[in-house]
Amino acid sequence: MSRHQFVDRVAIQVSGGRGGNGSMHFHREKFVPLGGPDGGDGGRGGSVWFVADANLKTLLDFTYRKHFAADSGQPGTGKRMAGKQAQDLVVRVPVGTVVLTPGGELVGDLRQTGQRLLAAKGGRGGRGNMHFATPTRQAPRLMEKGEPGEERELVLELKLLADVGLVGLPNAGKSTLLAAVSAARPKIADYPFTTLSPNLGQVRLGEEEHFVMVDIPGLIEGASQGAGLGHEFLRHVERTRLLLHLVDVGYPGVKPWEDFATINQELKAYNPRLSKRRQVVVLTKTDLVIDPKAVAAWKKRFKEAGYDVLAISAAARQGLDELLDRVRRLLRTLKPAAGGLDVPVKIVRGLPPRFTLEPAGPRHWRLSGREVEKWVAMTDFNNREAVQKLRHIFSRLGVSAEFERQQVAPGDTIQVGKEEFVFHEDL
Ligand code: GDP
Ligand code: MG
Repeated sequence: MSRHQFVDRVAIQVSGGRGGNGSMHFHREKFVPLGGPDGGDGGRGGSVWFVADANLKTLLDFTYRKHFAADSGQPGTGKRMAGKQAQDLVVRVPVGTVVLTPGGELVGDLRQTGQRLLAAKGGRGGRGNMHFATPTRQAPRLMEKGEPGEERELVLELKLLADVGLVGLPNAGKSTLLAAVSAARPKIADYPFTTLSPNLGQVRLGEEEHFVMVDIPGLIEGASQGAGLGHEFLRHVERTRLLLHLVDVGYPGVKPWEDFATINQELKAYNPRLSKRRQVVVLTKTDLVIDPKAVAAWKKRFKEAGYDVLAISAAARQGLDELLDRVRRLLRTLKPAAGGLDVPVKIVRGLPPRFTLEPAGPRHWRLSGREVEKWVAMTDFNNREAVQKLRHIFSRLGVSAEFERQQVAPGDTIQVGKEEFVFHEDL
């Protein structure tokens, strides 16, 4: 089974619901001639959340449905009544899903059952006119429209958590072992760094039982400091439950004990907790050893040092059944490692520049930026007071100054997100 069957990848769109519009309404009562403003606020739009679900195993569902939109909030009404908030939309994803931007930035990593990640925030409700009364403006004909929900394109990647990681010096025989016990066909060659990305293989133990083995290439001295390719791949080691530590005993003048220590130092330098991960020492390439007593002596030495040790020849298919049997028994007792070495979820959402104004054709401009787009979308352009308020905001954000600097003229069209308005002196 090749690697791509394990790493699923889908691109989807998520959009938070728009906030409900604020209400413009005046208090009405019999015999009371001039009612005050009593328009309530719009309700918040629903947000879209990802939740990790252990019952899901693939991202297949997302090939059928790619757009997830939460509902909008309800508009506010008179008598200071707020509109109803929309419910959040919960999208279930398999445990092990990594969420990325289309540019490959990490948005979040859903590793544990029940873990949640905000995918797209719902817009807030617009304020009703009850908020806009001042001593000098007792009958404000002003309300806000609801804020548009956040819209994002996201990439979901599913990285199956491998149960068993293969570690060892380059050439120790990791790829060969993986190929011998699974249907994976990693590159095998007797020079270092043949493997540029980790290879995953599914090892079947019977009708129902299987485990996932990952071949982690390029662990060499200094990998934990970023030398070689090892560093990147150590991340994959973190996710395994059991390590098979392959030690080559087939080359002339072998130094199994030193080779073993080198890798252990690397693991420890990268993450001290990794060196506590359960290991089985696997002496490899025994078919190349002329004196069988030598293998027995090495086994004895590791055993005396307190390690679980086995010897195999992947080439001659010796010792493989015993190895798989040992792995099967250990996996039954070992808890998943995902919890133990969890890194905090990192949310990468750089602050975009506040706004940009650029020409988009003759007498046509494009104004962009999250904040300005939000305020324009929330403005009712048929309403003088709302437009005045937008002017204040433009002035505060420096948009007005930018209009002046770039000589935007009355009558020019300004496109802002999905909205468009005609520039005039008031702005
Ligand atoms: P890796 O770098 O740890 O993935 O090592 P590879 O699996 O690529 O193996 C390195 C070299 O050792 C290759 O030339 C393999 O053919 C060889 N090799 C691996 N396992 C055995 C084995 O059991 N017996 C013999 N004779 N050669 C092996
Ligand atoms: Mg390899």
